[in-house]
Amino acid sequence: MRKPLIAGNWKMNLIPEEAGFILDKLMTVKEKEVELLICPSFIALPLASEKLKNSFIKLGAQNMYPEIKGAFTGEISPNMLKALRCEYVICGHSERRTLLGESNDFIRRKVSCALSHNIIPILCVGESQKDRTEGMTEECIRKQIFTALSDLKRKELSRIVVAYEPIWAIGTGISATATDAEKVAKFIRNELTCAFGKQVAEEIRILYGGSVNITNITDFMHCPNIDGALIGGASLKPTEFIEIYNKI
Ligand code: PEP
Repeated sequence: MRKPLIAGNWKMNLIPEEAGFILDKLMTVKEKEVELLICPSFIALPLASEKLKNSFIKLGAQNMYPEIKGAFTGEISPNMLKALRCEYVICGHSERRTLLGESNDFIRRKVSCALSHNIIPILCVGESQKDRTEGMTEECIRKQIFTALSDLKRKELSRIVVAYEPIWAIGTGISATATDAEKVAKFIRNELTCAFGKQVAEEIRILYGGSVNITNITDFMHCPNIDGALIGGASLKPTEFIEIYNKI
């Protein structure tokens, strides 16, 4: 049985004081059989780590460099994230792929490095509007997934989380329909089944991300292959984010 996961990606928002205010609100939430995860900016991670120390709310990072230490100016390593009690890291968010030129191959290194340091990677995949119009959605996602996972051993695979995030739906207010999102999530699970076997594929959680809000969350959570959501904009509004969590 896959445990649902609701993850908030705060992106480059909130100075620590503002982050603390939202975390205080989130900490009033009553735990259910649904994981709740927050991925603040690096600057807010120490405060979040301290605040969430005794909370069921989990902490994740938005990015990580796939080396332990060294001359990588401006980067952060897996052991630094572990020191801040991060259990998850987002890998390959489309904003990093498009704005910062991250390749599938570089994302593969991050996924593999995160797992080897006991951090769960949330691998983001998704097609652009152009891919979609040209009927290339499946092709694009297949490539993103299989490059990113190519280094992993079968027993490591079940720990990863895949977030299906169509680029055209991120931050636009135009989400995919639940039917379309389920179609892609099912495609992802089928591909994982063919490559790694049914047992592993059934254990991997697949999230949907892209303009999730209080109105559409229930539809996504009714989809058999969608196990939660990666949420940007709505995770910055504590009342809405709490309502989303409580709706599941
Ligand atoms: C995201 O940043 O991963 C995301 C899904 O953003 P939003 O919810 O704002 O579309």
